[in-house]
Amino acid sequence: MKREHAPLKSLDQALAELMAFAVPLKGSVQLDTFDADGRVLAQDLVSELHVPPQDNSSMDGYALRCVDVASVGGRLTVTQRIPAGTSGVPVEPGSAARIFTGAPIPPGADAVVMQEDCEVLSAPHDAAVHEQVRILVLPQPGQWIRRAGEDVARGTVVLHRGTRLSPAELGLAASIGLDQLPVLRTPRVALFSTGDELVMPGTILPQQMKAGAIYNSNRYFLRALLKRLGCEVSDYGIVPDQREATEQAMRAASLGHDLILTSGGVSVGEEDHVKAAVQALGELNLWQIAIKPGKPFAYGRVGQAHFIGLPGNPVSSFVTFLLLVRPFLLKLQGVGSIVPFTQSLPAHFKWPRADRRREFLRVRRNEAGGLDLFANQSSGVLTSAVWGDGLVDNPPGQRIAHGDCVEFISFAELLA
Ligand code: AMP
Ligand code: MG
Repeated sequence: MKREHAPLKSLDQALAELMAFAVPLKGSVQLDTFDADGRVLAQDLVSELHVPPQDNSSMDGYALRCVDVASVGGRLTVTQRIPAGTSGVPVEPGSAARIFTGAPIPPGADAVVMQEDCEVLSAPHDAAVHEQVRILVLPQPGQWIRRAGEDVARGTVVLHRGTRLSPAELGLAASIGLDQLPVLRTPRVALFSTGDELVMPGTILPQQMKAGAIYNSNRYFLRALLKRLGCEVSDYGIVPDQREATEQAMRAASLGHDLILTSGGVSVGEEDHVKAAVQALGELNLWQIAIKPGKPFAYGRVGQAHFIGLPGNPVSSFVTFLLLVRPFLLKLQGVGSIVPFTQSLPAHFKWPRADRRREFLRVRRNEAGGLDLFANQSSGVLTSAVWGDGLVDNPPGQRIAHGDCVEFISFAELLA
């Protein structure tokens, strides 16, 4: 077999090219705020009000005028009661308002004293007599008051277009009164697996599998990954390792989809027909990347659709999806910034065999604050991705000694 001599493209170069191809999709929709988790804002959201709307109490206690409490132990007459959801009247000199968390500060008051720092002096059930309260601390102006607009000031942009919405963002949008949100349309993705050896779970019992057959695992995690990114998935199932069948599937998938995503069949063997099919029907812009696992990665176009071919080996497929397809799909949806957060952590393992390619090792954080390595780093061993909670991004040619600091990317970051 012929050896490859041309240098492979680096991951950074491939990612930059891929991102340049990922032009954000046109079209947005209004969604109920309840349903917008994970979607991307199509417009800036500007607040038409202050949040909170008025100065309000952050404690259950008494609102008062600091000038009326010259010393610890001063007494005030409680002339009003302001539960949350109501509003009070001006606080006259020498008086205090019983107040509860979230209730507006009445005019004239400039501090709240929490009830734990007060002593009630007369029974409240005698309607004729106002309750008296003794203030056991010296109040400071502004204490226990949440200021109007301290969360959001009227007229400001609270969330920018291109923001991917998560639960906190939904809450913030609701706090400025929005029950509907403008979000970008999500990508329509056609998915298929290639490989004559593949069998769908549920169609053949494990003990009846023919020699050479394996269950299709990629289809399951790829569909789940696509769904997490909000994509609409058309699943074309398993396509046989034949040129004609591959072209046929590719042609069908190119209609009405933004992306055709395939797994397997994109390597250099005679049974790999995906690359040739894309070249025949459209164009191939990227092929093979200097990473391990994941070298046989391809990008191109078929008709109006983008094409991404992932390697067949499950770990290669999984890792290249996280490193390349995820940012691609987020950019299609208009997300502004997508660089994953990495952390420098000590390796509690050795990696004596440096590789010419940049490697992504499956590791797990341990309680001592370091990283353990999964023993089998083969690209076919999906257990490594389950056992691990992230990847070590190891530069080309880099050996790792016990205790060396390495770059860790958590799966949590890449699966969000
Ligand atoms: P390929 O890229 O088609 O040469 O496949 C590389 C390796 O990945 C082979 O051992 C395949 O059997 C395996 N493989 C390909 N597709 C899948 C799949 N969908 N699920 C599990 N393993 C697969
Ligand atoms: Mg194959």
